[in-house]
Amino acid sequence: MKLLGALQQALGDQLVLTGERIPTKARSDSSHTGHHLPMIYIRPCSVEEISKALRVCNSYRNPVVVQGGMTGLAGGANPDPNDVVIAMDLLSGVEEIDTAAGTMTVLAGTILEVAQKAAEEAGFLLPIDLGARGSCQIGGNLATNAGGIRVISHGVTRDNVLGLEAVLADGTVISSLNRMQKNNTGYDLKQLFIGSEGTLGVITRAVLKLKPFPVHRATALCGLNSYEDVVALLRQARKSLTGLSAFELMWETFFRFSCQAEGFEIFEADYPFIVIIEQSGETVGLEEFLSAMFEEGLISDALIAQSEKERGRFWKIREGLSLGALPRLIEYDVSLPIGVLDLYAKEVTAALETEYPGVHVSVFGHVADSNIHLCISAGPIDASAEHRINTIVYERVRQHRGSISAEHGIGTLKRDYLIYSRSPEELEVMRRIKQVLDPRCILNPGRVI
Ligand SMILES: Cc1cc2nc3c(=O)[nH]c(=O)nc-3n(C[C@H](O)[C@H](O)[C@H](O)COP(=O)(O)OP(=O)(O)OC[C@H]3O[C@@H](n4cnc5c(N)ncnc54)[C@H](O)[C@@H]3O)c2cc1C
Repeated sequence: MKLLGALQQALGDQLVLTGERIPTKARSDSSHTGHHLPMIYIRPCSVEEISKALRVCNSYRNPVVVQGGMTGLAGGANPDPNDVVIAMDLLSGVEEIDTAAGTMTVLAGTILEVAQKAAEEAGFLLPIDLGARGSCQIGGNLATNAGGIRVISHGVTRDNVLGLEAVLADGTVISSLNRMQKNNTGYDLKQLFIGSEGTLGVITRAVLKLKPFPVHRATALCGLNSYEDVVALLRQARKSLTGLSAFELMWETFFRFSCQAEGFEIFEADYPFIVIIEQSGETVGLEEFLSAMFEEGLISDALIAQSEKERGRFWKIREGLSLGALPRLIEYDVSLPIGVLDLYAKEVTAALETEYPGVHVSVFGHVADSNIHLCISAGPIDASAEHRINTIVYERVRQHRGSISAEHGIGTLKRDYLIYSRSPEELEVMRRIKQVLDPRCILNPGRVI
């Protein structure tokens, strides 16, 4: 095969794997929807090697799929049998922490948790944080513009990036490693690559913003009786709780399922809404805040974590990994205006229960960011039932003028539904940008658009 020979010549045999040398993890991301191993699996160690590999693939017009930590949930990193995979794991390491500027320069294959620990050792907080921190990579976080649990205080990944380096489909290296907060010198090219899910270039390096590491952290679980109370509590927390760093909502079905699966007993009574609220920074005051909210009647019960272990238990409930045991689980990450999130959840649940009696619908999420996750299991369903469920979920997103993906991205799984959230004109501009940067359409083809 000419392509294989050309890649081996450019990179050497060790980095170019085929057949049984390709690891099985290359088959699918965490959506578990991938079915094929790629034809060729490359593990470059340097930006130059990525550039060489892309130059070869581009000349052969062979599709390339970029694989980071494979924790994505949109099927974007799943290969087809004729694809060349570029695995980013060897391009890893924190290159520099600039303590004066509060920045970190990091290679794209670095595991998020490794970068977080390096920042912490230098006395800083790397604000990007999500449940998959132990496996996902910085490059994957940028490519998907990941959200996570600190968006309320630090924004999404995009808000924490100062500079970026990427390799285009033809091998050109675009080094936009800006380190300054202010830089208005023409188009902000890094923004094109952030959130483009590997369709416009392979991200190889990033300059990230660091924040002071918080001295105190306090976490509480609160039981509430109405969604109006949840929204009022959020408004009050934003107004008067200094250092509010997380505000996550769990609807009752999800909370009960997750607690039972983990073997935790939290409250004596059942509440329709449970909020996890966290305060980080120089000051403490969560207890006083919660007492005031109790007096106002916004919360009916609250527990403040008394140890790191208890705090870990609270977050374990919220992470809800036990849902993975449900048959044919479909996960959604929609965003809608905060005021309609509960109405939307009720509408979708009612529609699903009518068509699929006994369906499990868990709802939870980053309500302060207008973003909720729905986890739906209707038993062993076929592809047409899955399409029907997608339509029920996304049609109501369109009616409320929300977004079909708040954070996981479009990948392959949501591509056919992108039209629910983007206009034909917007899609046309996206296609034109893709055509300019990747005219032979070799990079992650069929993803996003
Ligand atoms: C338990 C769990 C919790 C999660 N929680 C959250 C959450 O709170 N918020 C959230 O936003 N997401 C969440 N996710 C989804 C996922 O972790 C994120 O999308 C993450 O950013 C993906 O990173 P990755 O390195 O695993 O990327 P991959 O899964 O390997 O790839 C994702 C996409 O990015 C592309 N890509 C990867 N690396 C590069 C690169 N260097 N250059 C160009 N393109 C690249 C891939 O081709 C693919 O299209 C969660 C997933 C799990 C399993």
